[in-house]
Amino acid sequence: MFHQKSKFLFILLFGFFYINATAQNQTFLIHHAKIVDVKTGNITKKRAILIENQTIKSIDSYKKLKKQSFKKIDAKGKYIIPGLWDMHIHIEGQDLVEDNKALFPVFLAHGITTVRDAASDLGLQVLKWRDEINEGKLLGPTIYTAGRKLEGLNSIWKGDLEIENEEQLTQMLDYLDSLKVDFVKITENTLKGDLFLKSVIEAKKRGYKVTGHVPYDLTINDLAEEGFSAIEHASYLLRLGNDEISSKKGILDGTLTKAQAEKDFLQNFDQEKAIKAYSDLANKNVAVCPTLIGGKQLAYLDENDHKNDDFQKYLTKRFMSNYQWRIGRMANETPEQKQQRKDRYQLIAKQLPYVQKSGMTIIAGSDCAALNTFVYPAASLIEELDLFQKSGMKPLEILQSATLNGAKFMGKFETVGSIDIGKIADLVILEENPLEDINAVSKISGVFTKGKYFNKTALNQMLEEATKKKAELDKSRE
Ligand SMILES: [Zn+2]
Repeated sequence: MFHQKSKFLFILLFGFFYINATAQNQTFLIHHAKIVDVKTGNITKKRAILIENQTIKSIDSYKKLKKQSFKKIDAKGKYIIPGLWDMHIHIEGQDLVEDNKALFPVFLAHGITTVRDAASDLGLQVLKWRDEINEGKLLGPTIYTAGRKLEGLNSIWKGDLEIENEEQLTQMLDYLDSLKVDFVKITENTLKGDLFLKSVIEAKKRGYKVTGHVPYDLTINDLAEEGFSAIEHASYLLRLGNDEISSKKGILDGTLTKAQAEKDFLQNFDQEKAIKAYSDLANKNVAVCPTLIGGKQLAYLDENDHKNDDFQKYLTKRFMSNYQWRIGRMANETPEQKQQRKDRYQLIAKQLPYVQKSGMTIIAGSDCAALNTFVYPAASLIEELDLFQKSGMKPLEILQSATLNGAKFMGKFETVGSIDIGKIADLVILEENPLEDINAVSKISGVFTKGKYFNKTALNQMLEEATKKKAELDKSRE
């Protein structure tokens, strides 16, 4: 009796220790899976994936591999895709450090194993988190970050690196070098076009991918000529259905206001012209991160009541209090302006299948941020992919935009972004076929990332923890 008991205890303790201590080096076998090849759209049935030291060692029949494995994961009838990439998020808010940190597991529970942080006032903290996650000290999605972004003097965004001349540009790029950021982001709130363009040129010279907004006093083509890597937000594409050069001229000589330019982009939009411009951009290797969901949430604010949105159980009161900023900015809009927002959103969404067809790379990103009203972390990427599908993109194209396109864009496709032998095992097990309906990405049965497997129970536990943390933080601030 005693003997049995101690043996049980030994197994219990040893087992516990083993899982904790060697999770990184465990051997796993995920078997009877339907593996989705995101490169081709082929589905390989009844295969097993052998994972050793976080790497996909073999993809073969269960019979051949079953003896080598330590821990088996039965994925019968399920679909396996690479972990999702949200290629545009902001981890922001100087007073939201704990709030943001608590959301990292929520990303994983939504199948998002990699994010690209497009700069914020928390840039330095995000860089720290990036390294801690890479070192296995903190559990969360792999982070690529711009750290802080380049802007002009007195921009509306907090934490920008504000520059006025080329000397300051050099200083700030030196600073970004020292931070070891993963790409350079530039926005146009107060930064003038000529210095913006110079920033692109200089950052490219240093080997960075350079992304950002598009200033009114530059054309998209000006940026493309200098090797601009990606346009953040598909809203800028509407300019391509117009005469960009004359708009730029009007802005520069003062005969055109920004508001009038925006109106023209919408009202004089020529679809054929835009389609032609998309193939020019494809040839120049300029990608686009559409971020439809943010524009949609704002455009339909008067029709959709967000009071009971389920995701709010993960967001602290302090986090959500930031949502008022944009709501306040829109408070005085006329019915005409409201309608214009909706028309604009619809026209932007309609561009996606044309953009896809042109050969331009679409990288999926949500633009979730504390300042982006009702663009919830993690959940909004899933909504974004649904909007892609509603726009007419095919499920495979959408899946590519949220997996391998991100990996290729960040120059990591050799090691991640698809399920292939030799790559890092970073994958999501789904209950349904995402190639039939992209919404299958929300029916998750398990996630394998950072050398660990999280089954449905473990994922639910992460979500449960996040709601507890939210309640705790709210309470501590009462
Ligand atoms: Zn953004």
